[in-house]
Amino acid sequence: MTTATVSPPASATKPTAAYLDEAERWSAHNYLPLPVVLDRGEGAWVWDVEGNRYLDMLSAYSALNQGHRHPAIVSAAREQMERLTLTSRAFHNDQMGPFLRELCEVAGYDAALPMNTGAEAVETAVKMVRKWGYETRGIPADRAEIVVCEDNFHGRTTTIVGFSSDEQYREGFGPFTPGFKIVPYGDVEALRAALGPNTAGFLVEPVQGEAGVVVPPDGYLAEAAALCREEGVAFIADEIQTGLGRTGRLFCCEWEDVRPDVLVVGKALGGGVYPVSAVIADAEFMDVFRPGDHGSTFGGNPLAAAVGRASLRVVLEEDLSRRSDELGSWFKEQLRAIPSPHVQEVRGKGLMIGVVIRESSGTARPFCEALQERGILAKETHQQVVRFAPPLTVEQSQLQDALVDIAAVLRE
Ligand SMILES: *Cc1c(COP(=O)(O)O)cnc(C)c1O
Repeated sequence: MTTATVSPPASATKPTAAYLDEAERWSAHNYLPLPVVLDRGEGAWVWDVEGNRYLDMLSAYSALNQGHRHPAIVSAAREQMERLTLTSRAFHNDQMGPFLRELCEVAGYDAALPMNTGAEAVETAVKMVRKWGYETRGIPADRAEIVVCEDNFHGRTTTIVGFSSDEQYREGFGPFTPGFKIVPYGDVEALRAALGPNTAGFLVEPVQGEAGVVVPPDGYLAEAAALCREEGVAFIADEIQTGLGRTGRLFCCEWEDVRPDVLVVGKALGGGVYPVSAVIADAEFMDVFRPGDHGSTFGGNPLAAAVGRASLRVVLEEDLSRRSDELGSWFKEQLRAIPSPHVQEVRGKGLMIGVVIRESSGTARPFCEALQERGILAKETHQQVVRFAPPLTVEQSQLQDALVDIAAVLRE
């Protein structure tokens, strides 16, 4: 019998270039990451395989609002792993009920449906609102429409990319699911014009993250929600990125006192430890699902539920929404005060901030590379925007130190 060659243990480190080559050789090339190989994280810090320390200003696209390896979340995960990790929904487990109750009590809704990734939760919301449209609004079979916004990002499934306005997300992946209409973001009149007798829902990000931290005009969410209410259309907020404190409120819709009919959460609900997402709604919507209508092998598993409970508790107990609001306002002002020939605009809410680079200065990518060399990890989004979204547990002193390097890079 021949012995298969095995890789050395993970602790045996190689030079950065060797890891990059290995990933290049063995992975699909669906990302273009910065050339940094991380092997440790704590709070807002991460370290690469060469021992260099960085401030993580991306937070895994806001999945790490509580910071890397938050002790309360890690210990909840560890304890749960010692007891029970997976039951499937064929049986009950002792964590899911408490998790969903706590989530609903915090958000103020009747019920929640647990999934794993954000895209699955968005798909769940689409199914829920379509069925609600047929059953309660009497929309003729297979005619339900959902209105979405230009430059949206709701995930990468075929249905979801089918209603993206980004050609690259769609190119080569059709045919797509029908039943979606795209309107400009931030334009209530365009939304009004798009609504028809078969419109079941309006799906919107309260701030568009992937589009480049695009904040809609003041009043947009409130007016859009009021319009949806008048027209009997479900207002679906995708708070996967904006939720759980990121924008300075627990949910970004709170900025305009909007209570969505359907609230979609994910990312930080898993505390950076495990994928946990959910759709939250009142019974009117949730009850369209009957046994067998929808499901997920891993959704609501006890490990996910235990992690979700701890992640939510940390956001509340450490008042991360307020930290995000206060640190975010301060940090944004500091960024705006940097005299830079390259910056067109600094925008955002809470610690979800985008620095827009002028097209005459090239793209945002070289700025991110220069930041990396100075120990700051940020990622460009949509060519021209450097996104700053550190864990909400970040210390003001860490941001203060980062500002010195950011200023140096933006002035160059
Ligand atoms: C990240 C994100 C998603 C998709 O979440 P995944 O977990 O990557 O599937 C959906 N909507 C928004 C607003 C997001 O930021």
